[in-house]
Amino acid sequence: MTVRVRFAPSPTGELHIGGVRTALFNWLFARNQGGKMILRIDDTDQQRSSQKFLQTILDSMQWLGLGWDEGPRAGGDFGPYFQTQRLTIYQEEVKKLLDSGKAYLCFCSPEELARQKEINAQKGLPPRYSGACRNLSYQEIEEKKKAGQNYVIRLRVPEEGETVVEDLIRGRVTFENKIFDDFIIVKSDGFPTYNFASAIDDAKMEITHVIRAEEHLSNTPRQQILCGQLGFSTPVYAHVPMILAPDHSKLSKRHGATSVQEYREMGILPEALINYLALLGWSPGGDREVINIEEMIALFSLDKVGKNASIYDLKKLTWLNSHYLRTKEKELIGEMMVPFLQKEKMISGELTEEEKTYVEQVVDLVREKVKTLQEVADASIYFFSEDFPYDQAEMAKHFGREGAELVIKEIGNTLSDAEPFQKETIKLKLKALSDNLSLPLSKINIPARLALTGRTMGPDLLDIMTLLGKEKVLQRLKKAELLCQGR
Ligand code: GLU
Repeated sequence: MTVRVRFAPSPTGELHIGGVRTALFNWLFARNQGGKMILRIDDTDQQRSSQKFLQTILDSMQWLGLGWDEGPRAGGDFGPYFQTQRLTIYQEEVKKLLDSGKAYLCFCSPEELARQKEINAQKGLPPRYSGACRNLSYQEIEEKKKAGQNYVIRLRVPEEGETVVEDLIRGRVTFENKIFDDFIIVKSDGFPTYNFASAIDDAKMEITHVIRAEEHLSNTPRQQILCGQLGFSTPVYAHVPMILAPDHSKLSKRHGATSVQEYREMGILPEALINYLALLGWSPGGDREVINIEEMIALFSLDKVGKNASIYDLKKLTWLNSHYLRTKEKELIGEMMVPFLQKEKMISGELTEEEKTYVEQVVDLVREKVKTLQEVADASIYFFSEDFPYDQAEMAKHFGREGAELVIKEIGNTLSDAEPFQKETIKLKLKALSDNLSLPLSKINIPARLALTGRTMGPDLLDIMTLLGKEKVLQRLKKAELLCQGR
């Protein structure tokens, strides 16, 4: 048997981290089992679905490296992969259920349903459908149809017995059938409900394992009942626990970024997000914190997914991000930096080979102390522009003091003789200057750094100087002389 799993997002919003983790667990399971990953688009909520969200979801998945074997952009033998393109498939199944009396038309109006609910509530009963239309005669149905009454289609659910979900993560979960009422499978607009479409698609797409968020656990017995009535075998289910905010509430916008798109714009690397989310709820054993994708695939198993909710921890994610930022090839980080530098107007247009190398060198210098690609951009303005800001407080302190201008001038003079303009020669020159002026080296380095970068902290000063090159260094020192004079 080939393992076939599916990730079935609804294009009604961006891909958020809960969704990505579900996608990731499906993907890891498929890769680990040598199976197939199917991407299905649950777009039957036409009001809320949009093309824009669909594109973001697909782009986010691709950016994360979570490719799919079948689905939009990929094709496959079990399509179409959009539920709105499968309506005739659902209609065929509805017809079979109606013909065999396993489903029936229900004409109860919303007002009538509300009234029934009220009566139940007064009796202290759960808000179940009363079954008013369960036994309408053929004639009654025809009359109501003729009168133009709207209807939905409901599944006749057995009142006796129980439905057992054998969940790979949660174990055995038993539901008494009497808690389910005759639920709706086709809405009055003719569209299938989520449970109906999902049960049919999972069966027709030969899905072997349904791995999805825990919030769907209560839907699962309904889908199992549907499979039974439709004569389909049921897949194996695994419900992944929730991701909660640090205060244990439901994770939402107010807790910060929640969508992949937002993390991408912040400059989080895909490997960091994947690494972080993989270990949020799954453990390969031991207390591993950094794990690469090959190891994840090799080690992944559903029985190592915990039952409890996971707590989202942004600090851990940014820590992992700085790890990948520091260790990934500088050529790749350089490429990833391009949109960030463009956004900040630090570069424009296509980069020449020379410019690419320059970006890589900058990345290599500044990435030690920052956590995101955006922070790399923020920390490297002075490598790309003469128009960088100066820290005002540091300026007052270091350029405002007696003799500051002279020191800057001397630095400029001595560096103009540094040939070749490289670390060793610059170092010797600055050392000699410190001896000549009887000043500690720091009294030279700090104003020099401030002159060249506008700040007093940052990467190695000699590296900054060599990367900027002599011309820019001397120009900026000249400008700093004027700044010392308060001009
Ligand atoms: N479209 C549903 C969702 O996004 C899919 C749930 C499922 O995996 O069955 O929640």
